[in-house]
Amino acid sequence: MKMFSKFLACAVVIAVAVPLSGQQPPAPAGGGRQGAPGASGAPKPQDTEVYEPVPKVVTPGASDSQPPSDAIVLFNGKNMDEWVQNRDKSPCNWILADGVMTVNKSRDSGNIETKRTFKNYQIHVEWKIPENITGTDQARGNSGVFLASTGGGDAGYELQILDSYNNKTYVNGQAGSMYKQAIPLANPNRKPGEWQTYDVAWTAPTFNADGSVKTPAYVTVFFNGVLVQNHFELKGETLYIGKPYYKAYDRAPIKLQAHGDRSEPVSFRNIWVRELE
Ligand code: MG
Repeated sequence: MKMFSKFLACAVVIAVAVPLSGQQPPAPAGGGRQGAPGASGAPKPQDTEVYEPVPKVVTPGASDSQPPSDAIVLFNGKNMDEWVQNRDKSPCNWILADGVMTVNKSRDSGNIETKRTFKNYQIHVEWKIPENITGTDQARGNSGVFLASTGGGDAGYELQILDSYNNKTYVNGQAGSMYKQAIPLANPNRKPGEWQTYDVAWTAPTFNADGSVKTPAYVTVFFNGVLVQNHFELKGETLYIGKPYYKAYDRAPIKLQAHGDRSEPVSFRNIWVRELE
């Protein structure tokens, strides 16, 4: 009998202890952390529903190629007023015809860049390799979009343009690459003569007062609608020779490349940008 009463006492202790340990502590005053049940009971759907800040209304373009209502149009086929020569900031002397802007490969031209400067943004660019393109490797429809132009020539961060439809080169230098840093995740190139699109999200690097990197640059690129760069973290500017490194800058123009190869020049249309906070 003595053993039985001990067992009974034990069972009573367990029976009392189990439900106690299953209870949650009461919520602190002011509601406590989201998702925790309040003193009055279980969490409610409304606990995690917020109403501010309200996203701004943006009217999309008639198609996804056309600028939405809050875009800055950098080229719409009518003029090249948003652009200057990179070399000396003189008016853009690329070739404008039939609503299309084509690289000027003459010696008195070169890379062009926007008059405006940018930090973080979304950009849409359409480009075309000529149908009659010749050349091989990097000398076949080479151009590029420098997402930040940090100086003369090819200084900056280049998203490569090249005929990579059927043209072997180093894979971190084909179309859709961040030049010599990031191989594209796929090859969605269209044939020469067909228009192609880049839709890019650019997060600019930030720098400390002493010029050291505070946060690196990130880039996401859709090429003809296909994801080819997925929040890639850059190691610095894109260089032809040597390892990438960062140079401090705040805001920068966007630059298009007049590459020095002899192949037929690349054309552009529908370029617009949306600045981001
Ligand atoms: Mg290039």
